[in-house]
Amino acid sequence: MFDTVDFDNHEEVVSVSCTRSGLRAVIAIHSTALGPALGGIRCWSYDSGMEAIRDALRLSRGMTFKNALAGLDLGGGKSVILGDPKTARSPEALRAFAQAIDRLDGRYVGAEDVGMTVADIDMMRDVTPHVAGTSWGASASGDPSPHTAEGVFLGLKATVRAATGSDDLTDARIGVMGLGSVGWKLAGMLRDAGASLLVADINVPRTVRAAAHLGAEIVDPLRLPFAEMDVFAPCALGGVLTRDFAESAPVRMICGAANNQLATPDVDAALWDAGKLYAPDYLVNAGGVINVAAEAGGEYDAYRVSMKVREIGETTAQVLATARSEDRPTGAVADALALARITAAGEEGERLLAP
Ligand code: NAD
Repeated sequence: MFDTVDFDNHEEVVSVSCTRSGLRAVIAIHSTALGPALGGIRCWSYDSGMEAIRDALRLSRGMTFKNALAGLDLGGGKSVILGDPKTARSPEALRAFAQAIDRLDGRYVGAEDVGMTVADIDMMRDVTPHVAGTSWGASASGDPSPHTAEGVFLGLKATVRAATGSDDLTDARIGVMGLGSVGWKLAGMLRDAGASLLVADINVPRTVRAAAHLGAEIVDPLRLPFAEMDVFAPCALGGVLTRDFAESAPVRMICGAANNQLATPDVDAALWDAGKLYAPDYLVNAGGVINVAAEAGGEYDAYRVSMKVREIGETTAQVLATARSEDRPTGAVADALALARITAAGEEGERLLAP
């Protein structure tokens, strides 16, 4: 593990196994410099144990940066349960995993991620207080997607303002890729703001319904990134921003909810060199984690959540302005800003800068 490229001086990595339930899992705590390490619990059929460890290492590091940039007093962590989500999440296995999280005394707080459901988190909550994103109870934070959509909308307006001098979206051509929980809501907000929408989703009935509801033009999902439009909003899968996209797509701005939009890290610079303004994904899609963090803090306060989500627009404007004044790619600027906040927290942050 120490020799993989994904290892980044992680504070603590725990392997979990339970013979009775068949549970095998990994909890990676990257940093608690800013507070308890908050990050999702993923259930996935990995090809090997090492692949699972590497995923937990990589994703937990990403959460350190995401939580820091969102201005949360939380560190970064992530956990993975190895196995088919259809069979690996028995009540017994989830209870055993909740006990393992509980043994960390709050240094890691888990939430729903790929392959898990809110019902799973509800069940784990009976065993440990160190999970968040439950559906019931006084502090339940509920569905994160409206908050994610709101943050992306504010980030998108900040991006348009940075590029054009005005955030008026009237008649702006915006392509929304993926009309799921976040994309659908984002598209509605953009339509209400006067944008002219292009939509794409591999789910055809959903696309047809969205187009009728939004008065949008339907575009083939493979063609949407290269369509004539002002803003591209990826809200489906990651890896959609490639070198080819950077060099040949006519679009000027990119801002969407999808995680890990850059196909490879060098695309950040390629987008900048091509004159495309990219709002870093982990900055603008932080509304969901801001919402779940409010529950992890013990007292869910909807007003404070919405105030914090609003800061996404301000931070996006700050990142884009710095990128322009220093002539640096936007992703690199966002990373530096997050790292500055972590290092300002003291010794723990210094550790992350160690070679
Ligand atoms: P979702 O599963 O509800 O929706 C995804 C949609 O994308 C579906 O309608 C699916 O049919 C479509 N899709 C899948 N592959 C596609 C393709 N190749 N081309 C076009 N459409 C395709 O997911 P969601 O919750 O709306 O999340 C969307 C993205 O935002 C994901 O990358 C997710 O990780 C990220 N994200 C979501 C949240 C949240 O609060 N839900 C928070 C942060 C980041």
